[in-house]
Amino acid sequence: MADRGRLYPSVIVHGREADARGEAVVDLARRLLCERPGEDPAAECKHCRRLHWPDSSALFHPDFQVLQRDLKTVTSVEAVKTLLRGAQMAPFEARGQVFVVAAADSLSGEAANALLKSLEEPHLTAPRHFFLLAPSQFDLLPTLRSRSLAIYLGAAPRPEGEAVDEIAAGFAVAIAAHRESGSSIDLLAAATALHEASDWRDPRAGEPWTVAAAAVRRAIDEPGAVPRRALLALAEELLEGRSLRLRGITAKRIVEGLVVKHLALG
Ligand SMILES: [Zn+2]
Repeated sequence: MADRGRLYPSVIVHGREADARGEAVVDLARRLLCERPGEDPAAECKHCRRLHWPDSSALFHPDFQVLQRDLKTVTSVEAVKTLLRGAQMAPFEARGQVFVVAAADSLSGEAANALLKSLEEPHLTAPRHFFLLAPSQFDLLPTLRSRSLAIYLGAAPRPEGEAVDEIAAGFAVAIAAHRESGSSIDLLAAATALHEASDWRDPRAGEPWTVAAAAVRRAIDEPGAVPRRALLALAEELLEGRSLRLRGITAKRIVEGLVVKHLALG
């Protein structure tokens, strides 16, 4: 689609790790801004040569802007507005412009809304492309997701593998106990196992939810006769837990509620 100039104006690139998402976007930007579109991008033109992820090279292209998270846990509305001012102008050199939000999962609500307004305005001069990068598309507001094409790069490699193993083991033991006893205390212990090992202080963080979902998926392989479908459904909903949390419900309550909803006996 990029080679043919038919890519969506707003694309979410999610999955894998941050480096892989950056590489994918640089590749797409080269396809979009190349002097010889459709040819092997390795045949580097004056644009491609300067399209690099910031920090990895001193080279710079004025029509490729990457917005990094500017505050500790948040990409601020001020930073987004600065980026969007560039989007009001015509390209400097290339036949279009590419704007990248490197950590779209960290956009403040206000920042996401400012961005949304720009996505809804048709570009007047040259093609304008926005790329929103995040570990999961579900880390983004539904309004942004509904106006974007999501490209999934595949599951992230798991540096947190040991943490997930540990959580999965505790969760599986509690679930097995619940299958045997039918007691809700064991069910809440399963929720606690999913919940207590992660750092939930940042309500916008997607990672604790990803870890909890990964632990539930891992428990599918444990013996214990929990219906696979129930565990998959639980994992799926945990990945969306962050949006409930942003509505002011505590992480503990959300995890407990979802565990009871999917795994309670009877
Ligand atoms: Zn080129």
